[in-house]
Amino acid sequence: MGAQGTDVETIARLTAEINQLKKERRAVLLAHVYQRPEVQEVADFTGDSLQLAQQAAKTDADVIVFCGVHFMAESAAILAPEKTVLLPDQHAGCPMADMVTAEALVQKKKAMPDAVVVAYVNTSAAVKAECDICCTSSNALKVVASLPEDRPILFLPDRNLGDWVMKRTGRAMTLWPGYCNTHDRLTVAEVQAAREAHPEAELLVHPECQPEVVAMADFVASTTGLINYAVQSPKDSFIVATEAGVLHPLTTQAPHKHFYMASSKLICPNMKMTTLEKILWSLQDMEPRITVDAPIREKALASLERMLALA
Ligand code: SF4
Repeated sequence: MGAQGTDVETIARLTAEINQLKKERRAVLLAHVYQRPEVQEVADFTGDSLQLAQQAAKTDADVIVFCGVHFMAESAAILAPEKTVLLPDQHAGCPMADMVTAEALVQKKKAMPDAVVVAYVNTSAAVKAECDICCTSSNALKVVASLPEDRPILFLPDRNLGDWVMKRTGRAMTLWPGYCNTHDRLTVAEVQAAREAHPEAELLVHPECQPEVVAMADFVASTTGLINYAVQSPKDSFIVATEAGVLHPLTTQAPHKHFYMASSKLICPNMKMTTLEKILWSLQDMEPRITVDAPIREKALASLERMLALA
C-alpha cells in the first residue's frame, strides 16, 4: 500500500525516516511533478524531464533516488554513471517509451538513411543510442529548429508532440505513431464540458494531448511551462490538461488561484507507483538500481548531451 490515503502522522514519520537516511547515504531525491504530493514534498528537487536530467548531470551526491519512471532513471544513469541510481519501483515504466524499440528504429533508419533522428527523452537508453539528438517537451521547438534545413527528420515516439512541433516550426517531419496513454485519452468533448463549466478559465494544454485538443488551448507548453505561465499570469482560473500531479506545484505556488482538471482521467498510473514506503525501502536496501551498459551509455550520452548543450 502507498502513503496515499494514509494519515498525516504516517506521512510525517516516513518523511523523517527518508530525510535521515538520505543524509546517511549522501543521496539526492529527484521527483517529477507528476508524482504524488507527499513524494514531491520529500524531494530535494522537483521538475519536468529536462530539469531533472540537468539536476542528475550536476549533482555531487553519491546516490540519486529517482521518483519518476524507468526512462528517467536511465537518463540519470547515463548522465551520472559514477552515481548509484535508484528507482523506488522498478516496474514504473512509460507505455509511450515502450512503443519504440531499438530494433524497430534501426529498421526505420534503413528506410530513411538521410534522416536526422530526434528522440523525445521518453525512450529507452537503447533507443537514445540510435538517435542523433534528444528533446523534451520544454525544448523540442529549439531542438528541431537547430537541425539542418536540408535533412529529413524522423521524430519519435510521440506523434502528438511531433505534430505540435511541426505546426510551430513549419518543419515537415516523419512521426513515429506513439502516444502517451494518459494525455492522448483526453477528448474534445471533455474539454468542451470543462470550458462550459468554467467559462472564465484559461485552458492550459500539454502537447502530448491530441492535436484537436491542443488546437483548443489558450496556452500550450511543457509541464514546467504551464506551471510558470499559470503562476505568473494575471488571470486567476485555469483548466489544466496535463497529468494531475501538477496540481501540487500549482496550488503550492499560486494558492489563491483556481485550477480545474480538464478530466478526472488525467492520471498516469506509472507515475503514481512511487510511494514514501518504496522510497524508504530503496534507501534502506540500495535497490532497485538502474544501470546502463557502457556501449549503449556512450552513444545515448552523446544524444542527451547534444540536447543539453542547446537547453
Ligand atoms: S504521463 Fe505519459 S509520457 Fe509520462 S510517464 Fe506516464 S505514460 Fe509516459
